[in-house]
Amino acid sequence: SRNGVASIILCSTLVVVIHVELDTLFHGSFLISALEFFKVNILRGLGSFYGTHPWFWYFLVGLPTLLGPHLVPFLMSLGSIPRSIWPLLATILFSVVCLSVLPHKEFRFLAPLIPASNIISGQYLSRKWGPSWFPLLSVVLMLVNLPVVFYLGTIHQSGPLVVMSSLQQRIQDRSSVVFLMPCHSTPFYSHLHRSIPMAFLTCEPPPSMLANMSAYMDEADEFFEDPPAHIESWLSGSKTSQIPPTHVVMFDSLHDRLRSNLKDFEVVEEFMNNPFADPEDRKSRSVHTTSMADPPSCNSSSEASVLTADGKNCVTVKCKHCGSKILPPNFGTWVVLTERIPEPEQKTVTTEVGETESEEFGVWKVENIFHFDNMGFSNAVGNRKYLACADCEMGPVGFMDTGDQTCFVYHQRITYEGAEQQQGG
Ligand SMILES: [Zn+2]
Repeated sequence: SRNGVASIILCSTLVVVIHVELDTLFHGSFLISALEFFKVNILRGLGSFYGTHPWFWYFLVGLPTLLGPHLVPFLMSLGSIPRSIWPLLATILFSVVCLSVLPHKEFRFLAPLIPASNIISGQYLSRKWGPSWFPLLSVVLMLVNLPVVFYLGTIHQSGPLVVMSSLQQRIQDRSSVVFLMPCHSTPFYSHLHRSIPMAFLTCEPPPSMLANMSAYMDEADEFFEDPPAHIESWLSGSKTSQIPPTHVVMFDSLHDRLRSNLKDFEVVEEFMNNPFADPEDRKSRSVHTTSMADPPSCNSSSEASVLTADGKNCVTVKCKHCGSKILPPNFGTWVVLTERIPEPEQKTVTTEVGETESEEFGVWKVENIFHFDNMGFSNAVGNRKYLACADCEMGPVGFMDTGDQTCFVYHQRITYEGAEQQQGG
């Protein structure tokens, strides 16, 4: 009718005007977002960069998946469509055909069409079966839908969400987090509400239309091509305001490839993600756990702030003289010895030293010489080899028992990562 057409024109004009007004206000200059979207995604074809599907995908995969069990009454209704339903069906068809023209396709693009589709299905059921069948049909449709709702709502790809709640509890003021996952796998600051540096592997589109777009690799592509080659720059803090990450979030498939690079970290929690996933495929996020690694944290109630709650070193042990790294966190156990080691000035070492008076020394006990970042060993003196910095040769900083090869590094002879700042302040 004429009234109907008038109200459509009025409503559309109102929506477009408000839309352009708001976008222009927040953007700072005149902007029609829909037009920009059309230019970038369709004219420049940037949407294709995020994956493509054949033209019939929405009809064969997209719509059936979204309709679920309601697909049956929806298809059956197509046999005899009452006049009143035609505008709804036309809306759905028009949208799906337009979306099918674009090579980049996603399930969520169809989400706005679900209410209209359900009305069509419901209309069909009420016409064919009548109100007396309503209770039974409701129960049947619910029984079919509930397991799907339960699985999709609580298990399927839930890891990236659950890990954020866990992170929210774990992080402290000086934490920083890197997400080594396909871009935008997890929510970001919206779920953390903490002002700490964070970084994730990005998937920025190519800066301008490239002749060979398939050759372009974004940051995430490059990283997953060879993770061990890129991991150091992510662990150095160069992506997180020079604060090396205290937490690393990744899928288990990547964790398996990076175990040796992440020996300073331990897995603190794993979250179910997708039990039916192909563990090799990172793009479909089809890995079944999310691992979060965490370095040991210092026990703030302990007098020595270098101790973890279970008596390990929570910070890196360094050479007092040249600052070289000696022992990574968590590989030394705090013990007290009465054995004295030679003074650093002494060039020759004799077995007599340490027998004059009884004194206690705080010492890091290291069970395996391969746990050191760097360490030099003297020739054996009795059942002792003395330890010295492998870089500047200053020592001894401790000794090794040549019997079981246990090493002891003396607290007084070394320093700790971050100790310089603490003394200055
Ligand atoms: Zn040194």
